[in-house]
Amino acid sequence: MTPHPSTVDARGAGQERSPFIARWGTATDRGSVRRLNEDSLLATPPFFLVADGMGGHDAGDVASALVVDAFAPYVDQASVSELDVRAAVLGARRAIVEFFAPTGMSGGSTLTGVAVSTVGDAPALVVVNIGDSRTYRLSEGRLEQLSKDHSTVQELVDAGTLAPEEARTHPSRNVITRAISPTADSEPDVWSVPARAGDRYLACSDGLTGEISDAHILEILTVHEDPQSAASALVAAALAAEGRDNITVVVLDVLSVGPVADDPFDEIFEDTVPTVQRG
Ligand code: MG
Repeated sequence: MTPHPSTVDARGAGQERSPFIARWGTATDRGSVRRLNEDSLLATPPFFLVADGMGGHDAGDVASALVVDAFAPYVDQASVSELDVRAAVLGARRAIVEFFAPTGMSGGSTLTGVAVSTVGDAPALVVVNIGDSRTYRLSEGRLEQLSKDHSTVQELVDAGTLAPEEARTHPSRNVITRAISPTADSEPDVWSVPARAGDRYLACSDGLTGEISDAHILEILTVHEDPQSAASALVAAALAAEGRDNITVVVLDVLSVGPVADDPFDEIFEDTVPTVQRG
């Protein structure tokens, strides 16, 4: 499926007003080595999420698809709460347990990204993370990794026994300590950040961050003003490296925050195609 360039007021048709206006772009590729794309993504207001499935054919792809599907009941709400996101994660885990129990197979998935939200009356984004997919924020020229990896190498970095720059090449770099799965710790990190006009968010699977550095990610996000161009360029850069894993990115731009007097985005909204990519 070809990712669609999307620009939209982040509110569903006929829904109450979104707390902010956003546009986004998505891209995914199975990479140069893997035969299957086990990543899934959801880029439909209020959710901008990436899930990286594990377990191989008929397992990892199913698991990541079940994760994004668990958010379907909330799609087209103008905003969601941290509790909604936690409830969806619980639903995802339940769906994965129910799917895999009778099969004897094991499968699981990471999850990361943001959701449109409010804190009090203030526009906000809920950030969610389980595993080693990542959510970044580009704000005023600075790229910040918002999510913290649930991984063995992150624990080594935290303990001071591994330098952060060595983490990307460490032999245990793919070992994660949390996942949405029947057997792993499935507790999500969930918190809120204020929505600010001009901020750009990136949710990505480790197929991106395993191939290119944060400095390279920053450069690409800075050069490409259009979020779809940025998303496509990020995936292209990971493929141009080695593309050893599935690569999935969602880029979300917060355009303006708060009530809008007119509706300059009506026309653009007509052209918008919400994107769901299932592994
Ligand atoms: Mg991966």
